[in-house]
Amino acid sequence: MEEALRSFFLQLAKNQSMNSWAKRYGLRFGANRFVAGETIESAIAAVQALNNAGMAVTLDHLGEFVADESEARDSADFCVRTLDAIHDAKAEASLSLKLTQIGLDISKELCLENMHMILDTAKKHDLWVNIDMEDFERCQVTLDIFSTLSQSYEKVQTVIQAYLYRSLDDVKALAEANVSIRLVKGAYKEPETVAFPDKADVDANYIKMLELHLPSAGLTSIATHDEHIIEHAKKFIAQHHISRDKYEFQMLFGIRNNLQQQLVDEGYPVRIYVPYGDDWYGYFMRRLAERPANVSFVVRGVFN
Ligand code: FAD
Repeated sequence: MEEALRSFFLQLAKNQSMNSWAKRYGLRFGANRFVAGETIESAIAAVQALNNAGMAVTLDHLGEFVADESEARDSADFCVRTLDAIHDAKAEASLSLKLTQIGLDISKELCLENMHMILDTAKKHDLWVNIDMEDFERCQVTLDIFSTLSQSYEKVQTVIQAYLYRSLDDVKALAEANVSIRLVKGAYKEPETVAFPDKADVDANYIKMLELHLPSAGLTSIATHDEHIIEHAKKFIAQHHISRDKYEFQMLFGIRNNLQQQLVDEGYPVRIYVPYGDDWYGYFMRRLAERPANVSFVVRGVFN
């Protein structure tokens, strides 16, 4: 039943008509539990509250699977404005983005052009940019673009998903290149030909990736709400004397808030992924897929 619901929400996440409807009618159905409003002002207010609670942020102006060039350029401008707003607010935050938001599905050249504009702004403000990982179809091209960009920019990071069979080899190569990565379990619907179908295998692969990357010179962002993995990471960090500037824990806005605060109180570096904007639908559906119990928020949202 749980697996059927998961597939249902991941299928819904790709529905373009629902997405257009959601953009037109604004944040609904309890989505504001996971999304920090639709404007940059509301996002910066959320960033400041988290900074005051001792957490850094990575801010994402939501958007993905853009098929129109002018929309991709507008999205890239939004990324630049988000970086400017972080700088103006003197906030402790980086930017996260998706390559399909800034034109990857239109052409690699357009996407690279937009990335250069965004990374030049980030460099000017001395800020990090993270390239989120999307579905398997876009994995290799995302890594290729990341590899090109990391030769010219120091503060750029990408994401590796533990559910993919290929990921352990990718982490090996990235650890040898001493680049910074975020480790996640993976949030898209992938076939058994490319991804572990069983959660236990995904979790085991996450631990292997973690132990491979933590000792490298690049930053390891441990992005998970899984307490077993977090505890394992804490022990590994202590045993191998991994210094504080070489890792951070990352969690999503609105998920496991107590655990977020507990890690801060224990003295660990914590960064929260804060999404904002009107393109909230796909992101929200993936959060429902991860935990179908979240549907209760939707039900409450409908009647509020
Ligand atoms: P799970 O085993 O799924 O969850 C562990 C526990 O966390 C659950 O028992 C539950 O208590 C809690 N939990 C997890 N999800 C939810 C939820 N939605 N609602 C309420 N409670 C929940 N995926 C990508 O594919 N690409 C990315 O670029 C990407 N970036 C991410 C960045 C950050 C900072 C984080 C934290 C996740 C990111 N993800 C990304 C999502 C990730 O792949 C997982 O889908 C998501 O983190 C859930 O997996 P988990 O590691 O928390 O473990």
